[in-house]
Amino acid sequence: MKIVVVGAGVAGGVVARGLRDIRSVELNVVEQVASSDHAEAGNGLNVGPNALRAAAAIMPCLERDLLAASLPWRRWRANLHTGAALYEIPLERVADRPGIRIRWSELYRIARQPLGTDIRYERRYRRLRSGADGRLALDLEDPAGLIEEIGEIDLLIACDGRYSRIREQLCGPPAIRHLGVANFRLLVEDGGATGIDDMEQWFHGPHRLLVFRLADGRLYVSGNLPIDPGGELEDRWKTPAGLRAAYLPQAGPVDPRLAYLIEAAAAQAAALHWSRAQEIDMCFLAGGGRVLFLGDSAHAMAPTLGQGATQALEDACAFVDLFRSRSWPDVAALTAAYDALRRPRMEFVRRFSWDASDPLLKGRDPVLSHRAKLGADYEAGLRRLYLDGPPYPSKR
Ligand SMILES: Cc1cc2nc3c(=O)[nH]c(=O)nc-3n(C[C@H](O)[C@H](O)[C@H](O)COP(=O)(O)OP(=O)(O)OC[C@H]3O[C@@H](n4cnc5c(N)ncnc54)[C@H](O)[C@@H]3O)c2cc1C
Repeated sequence: MKIVVVGAGVAGGVVARGLRDIRSVELNVVEQVASSDHAEAGNGLNVGPNALRAAAAIMPCLERDLLAASLPWRRWRANLHTGAALYEIPLERVADRPGIRIRWSELYRIARQPLGTDIRYERRYRRLRSGADGRLALDLEDPAGLIEEIGEIDLLIACDGRYSRIREQLCGPPAIRHLGVANFRLLVEDGGATGIDDMEQWFHGPHRLLVFRLADGRLYVSGNLPIDPGGELEDRWKTPAGLRAAYLPQAGPVDPRLAYLIEAAAAQAAALHWSRAQEIDMCFLAGGGRVLFLGDSAHAMAPTLGQGATQALEDACAFVDLFRSRSWPDVAALTAAYDALRRPRMEFVRRFSWDASDPLLKGRDPVLSHRAKLGADYEAGLRRLYLDGPPYPSKR
């Protein structure tokens, strides 16, 4: 089976890692950036225990690499801006292992490095068509604008992220649902002064600051401010004064760690990267089942629970396992089975991530919204999130 993977990000790199040693597969992997590109280097991620569980079951060498390049993530914890505790949920209460805290650049290195020269960098997907033999052909463009064709493709796995060109061409623009939350993120060198290690969050109204330390000693900081769904964050909030006003009260006690981090964000205010939280409608298949979407191209989701890259890893492991579990009569049967396997799981994960975002919305009071959100049902949801995973046919 000739398979082309477009996009060597989290889903694409990992699915290619899992497919490349299967003798019946002829694999091509294409990626638009150069191998030295570190566009996402300024980001950290918390990856859920469920991704580690999937890797351990299907690709143990992937689990080993993830653990070696990260620190353990062991808890959800949140405070008010004063430092008073709102809640703490140790992951050991709801999962069978910790998650991880990892740099973006490390996650991409783990996804890409084992593929070595099998990835064709600086090749941008442009166009797909049906060849005369009924198989697929696609055009790639190199940095000089030269077009090259790959033909006789049996399966195209589109891992080209949440702005997937392949999905837009084959299925039309995805339906976007805005959460009504703006995000910024940065890395902070505190020299250990704050004493922060595992995840901490502070709420001042619905304004949330989340932080955790990464393996290189720096702090990853991510902030959320509410906006109208589909609207833009006003520029005044993006200034040092705006950030202080959002997170710090005019008078009264403040957790000194929060004050430190807000000053660090204010010092970088002009350079902060802002985005809006959103999800797209779910779509796994196109082209009569000969095109399969994995990761964000299939189901970009609200980032609140840190499940985007986590689910890209689950997707990749689930597909590799399904592929290996039996011999498939044709590609459409394989991709239809994948859709049936992943759809119920993804419907749950997306809905749970969306609902968990409630305390971040306009007008929410942190104490009241967390009181409504937390409790036995929420912990049962976390257990389902972290312990269920996709069924692995080869493990039955
Ligand atoms: C602010 C923010 C914070 C987040 N925090 C977390 C977190 O803590 N935990 C978590 O699990 N997730 C988090 N996520 C989500 C996570 O980033 C994504 O869900 C994840 O990267 C999806 O992986 P992917 O492989 O589908 O796409 P990507 O990682 O985006 O990879 C897509 C790849 O396709 C390539 N590509 C795109 N177009 C083309 C083309 N035309 N031709 C060739 N190649 C192409 C790109 O260069 C890229 O390498 C966060 C997201 C955001 C925005």
